[in-house]
This record gives sequence, structure tokens and C-alpha cells, in this order.
Amino acid sequence: MTSARLTIDLGALAHNYRVLARVAGGAELAPVVKADGYGLGAVPIARRLRAEGARAFFVARLSEGEALRAALGDRECEIFVLDGLADPAAAARLQAAALTPVLGSLDEIDGWAAAAGAGSAAPCAVHIDTGMNRLGVPVGQAQAAAARLAAAGLDLRLVMSHLSYAAEPAHPRNAEQLSRFQAAAAAFPGARLSLSASAGAFLGPAFRFDVVRPGISLYGGGPQERPHPDLKAVAILEAPILQVRDVAAGQWAGYGAMFSAPRDMRIGVVAAGYADGVLRTSHRTARAFIGGRPAPLAIVTMDLIAVDLTDCPQAAPGDLVELLGPHALLDDCAAAADTVAHECLVRLSSRAERIYRD
Ligand SMILES: *Cc1c(COP(=O)(O)O)cnc(C)c1O
Repeated sequence: MTSARLTIDLGALAHNYRVLARVAGGAELAPVVKADGYGLGAVPIARRLRAEGARAFFVARLSEGEALRAALGDRECEIFVLDGLADPAAAARLQAAALTPVLGSLDEIDGWAAAAGAGSAAPCAVHIDTGMNRLGVPVGQAQAAAARLAAAGLDLRLVMSHLSYAAEPAHPRNAEQLSRFQAAAAAFPGARLSLSASAGAFLGPAFRFDVVRPGISLYGGGPQERPHPDLKAVAILEAPILQVRDVAAGQWAGYGAMFSAPRDMRIGVVAAGYADGVLRTSHRTARAFIGGRPAPLAIVTMDLIAVDLTDCPQAAPGDLVELLGPHALLDDCAAAADTVAHECLVRLSSRAERIYRD
């Protein structure tokens, strides 16, 4: 083996699903599998979660919904498309693939009603903007949205919103968004409600409502942007050492000033790089692991990474280096690259060979 290997541990995914189900109390989990299942494969991920009991999924784009519908081929699973009807021409495609748009404005509600035809009870969800200022009907238009949905006879499956500060449990904006959501939800008596993604699910019973939409924590990312002890790594990225080299104090590795040796040391040159999805900026503080022992990253170039072998004196060419996994934790890798776990996952590229493991 001379290239990087990405193992996707579906057993760990199922474990995380069960952990989240417990955290969510009695709320239904509707997994988010946008961006090809956070880069890990929306179809195998959704199939495995279906086997665990999931009956509804979220994607972002219409094309993602179409691909998932074609693969699942099962109209009993509901697939919500977060983009909704931002493009009015999407209506026919949404209908053809039996997708449920998450409508984010009064115009989108009107557009979906017109496309569906009078009294058709076409399914939809409504997104209420409680402060994030991305998509969604403003709270002040919730009554108008409810009136139009009712007049058109649409089948309202879910009223949802999204939290901006859920990774910071003590942040006052969580309670602010919660109360705005409750106020807006009053316009939709009897509707199923959803406010929380992964992080929100951990904020307590008031934030759970009927449906929780977990993404990152299913894939092993902690709800507060740091590792959570109950969640397992789903993505395991490994690559072999190609060469072991001795570098004298003051010598360098890689391009420019990326790394200069503070002392005489040994480095391992590893067959992976940012072309496999290891974020280039992570070389400053990220650690890889060899047989469970830490090997700090020294450089990250397109095809090659160098790691410091000071604590791994036995390491030899051919040994596997864990760049992401049960030791090189997703949230630590993200922090080292000054980003979030979500970005670390979606950057994993197709160059690494993929293996799905139960
Ligand atoms: C991406 C997304 C989610 C999932 O968020 P995670 O942080 O990955 O759990 C849920 N809801 C909406 C609206 C999203 O855009």
C-alpha cells in the first residue's frame, strides 16, 4: 500500500446514532446527509442509518436529494431539501423525486402551492429565521406563512429553525432563538417542530421538540467543537510511511519556512497530503499517530506529509500513520487547522482509497 486509505466505520456511525437518540430523549432523529454525507458517502450512510431506524433525511441541494432518492428508491423515507424552492424551476424536479422542500419565504410557499395545484396536499416544511439570517421566513411573517399554507392545502410536515450559538451552551442567544421559535411555532398549531442540529440536541429538553437534525455528531464530531467521550470516529484516514529520514538541527523540510528542525531529529515521510484532504494549515499543531503514539505533523504538502518520529523511534517505512481516527480526533484536527470538524470531513478527497466497514 502506497496511498492513503479512508475507512468509513458504519458501526461507529450506528453507535453515534444511538448515542444521539438517547441525548434527544423521545425526539425523532432526522440525519443530515448533505454534501455527500459530510464527504463520507450519503448513500451508504443513509442506508446504515435507515437500518438503525431513521425515516427522514436532510440534504442541502436538490441534486443531492435526487441522488439519494434514486439510491434509496423508497418513498417511505422522507427526504427534506434545505434549499427549498429558491429556484422556482425546481418544483417539477422535487415532485418527480418525491422530495420535501424546506420553504424559506412567502414566495416559496406560493410557488410550491402553484406548482402542486389546488388542494393537492403536497408535502413541505417551513424554515423560520430566528436570527441566523441565512434562509427562512422572518418570525414576523409566520402568521402569513401559516395562512398561505392552509389556504393552499399543503401538507406541512415540519416547522424548523436553526441555532447560531448552540456550540456555546451558556450563550444568551440560544434562549433568544428558542423563544422566537416558540412564538413563531404558535402560528402552526399541531405542526411537528425542529430547532436543533447536533449541538442543539445537547442543550437540554427545551431545545429538542419533535425532530432533531444531527449531522456532525453522527460522524464523530463533538457538539461543542471538541471531542465528546461518547462519540466514535467514523472517518479513519491512514497512510503509510514511505521513508524515514534524519534531519539535523537547523535543516528544513518542505517548502519555504514550513518547518525547520529545532534539533537533530527523525521524520517520517508519509504518502498523503492536502490532495487527500489533510488541511495544509494543520501542520502547525496537529498530531498524527503511529500505533497509538503521537507523531506531530511537521509539514503538509500536496502529496506528502512529514511527521516528527521523536516518540516513535521504531517507526519504519510501510508503517501506517493515522491522520484522522480514534487517536487523531476529528475536533482536534479541526482545531489544529483553525476550522470546524464539518470542513475537515468534507475536504476528504476521492484520491484516498475508500473502504466501508461494519
Ligand atoms: C447542516 C445543518 C444541520 C446539521 O448540522 P450539524 O452541526 O452538522 O449537526 C442541521 N440543520 C441545518 C439547517 C443545517 O444546515
